[in-house]
Amino acid sequence: MAAILLDFDLVVIGAGPAGIALVAEARAAGVPAGRIVVLEKAPAHSWIIRKYYPAQKPVLANYKGIEAKCEGVLCITDLSREETLTYLDRVIRDSEVEVRYGAEVHAVSVEPDRRLVVESGRDRYRARVVVIAIGILGRPRKPSYPIPRTLKDRVLFDVTSEEIRDKDVLVVGGGDTATEYCQFLVQEGNRVVLSYRGAELTRPNPINRESVLELERRGKLRILLESNVTGLEAAGEKVRVQFSESALDAPEFDGVIYALGGTTPENFLKAVGIEFDGPSPRLSKSFGTSVPGLFLAGDLTAGRKGGSIILAFNTAAAAMRQICEDHGICRIGR
Ligand SMILES: Cc1cc2nc3c(=O)[nH]c(=O)nc-3n(C[C@H](O)[C@H](O)[C@H](O)COP(=O)(O)OP(=O)(O)OC[C@H]3O[C@@H](n4cnc5c(N)ncnc54)[C@H](O)[C@@H]3O)c2cc1C
Repeated sequence: MAAILLDFDLVVIGAGPAGIALVAEARAAGVPAGRIVVLEKAPAHSWIIRKYYPAQKPVLANYKGIEAKCEGVLCITDLSREETLTYLDRVIRDSEVEVRYGAEVHAVSVEPDRRLVVESGRDRYRARVVVIAIGILGRPRKPSYPIPRTLKDRVLFDVTSEEIRDKDVLVVGGGDTATEYCQFLVQEGNRVVLSYRGAELTRPNPINRESVLELERRGKLRILLESNVTGLEAAGEKVRVQFSESALDAPEFDGVIYALGGTTPENFLKAVGIEFDGPSPRLSKSFGTSVPGLFLAGDLTAGRKGGSIILAFNTAAAAMRQICEDHGICRIGR
């Protein structure tokens, strides 16, 4: 059976903070709810918050020291994880825009009349404007050495897909995510070691840095600075971890959790025809790509230093201002 082609003014790919903010901005600009659709591959919105944020995690407005200055219609202060999800829930509900869940987008193409066609499963969506807001964590960054297949269920990239209690756990990484995982795992009664290749913990925000240093002082966490994991192997029920430093004599853990960040889905964006400058997509100040009518928003625009929720909101606001100026889909002046 041929795929159905559905017509919209605006298709938003990804229902994370950026995609949701895009919807709010579009509605504030008078785009009718029925002319917008959001396609989300997960079974619920804000999947990264649900999957990667540990329970009880405070959601910081100035995450990674990124200025917490809201430039669009959405804004958060410091909140809990649940409050953040409730806020985003309400934004979607109030917008009256349909979010289609379980709708992974695998291609975007340009028609001869320059309209864009988005493909998700057997459905096709045609629109004048498409915003890609799929974040960078769909495929978390993996270490350069291979992970033996037999260790698959003992090597994780988040702390929510399995309950981890009363275990010996190694966390690899040195940013906010790694330090937040350590705090959460200690709180859950695990014996935790953090391995970071740097000489100092300079990447986490001051709250996370101070919290893990305090855990170390209290003997609840061991921090291995200037340590480089070079490989993993199975040792019975345990994972034996090899370090390049000979002083670290292949310790064993019940599990290893990597918190190495994510990568821009470069192949996906290049397949759409988006031009790159080196590792980053070429973007206008309002996050327009080299493909007319195609914008990026959120973490995808943030480069190596990574983004925040407020930054995601702001990129959506900037993109929408440009969309209103150039693409004639807004009914209220901005
Ligand atoms: C552990 C952790 C803690 C953090 N803590 C904070 C904090 O305290 N404060 C803060 O401001 N920021 C924090 N951040 C950063 C913040 O979560 C991100 O900057 C923000 O989520 C980026 O929003 P986004 O919409 O660009 O992308 P994402 O949140 O990654 O959302 C992308 C959405 O797109 C969907 N998607 C992906 N691929 C496809 C596809 N092909 N088709 C359809 N849908 C797709 C995903 O399922 C997802 O729902 C944290 C991040 C992590 C990992």
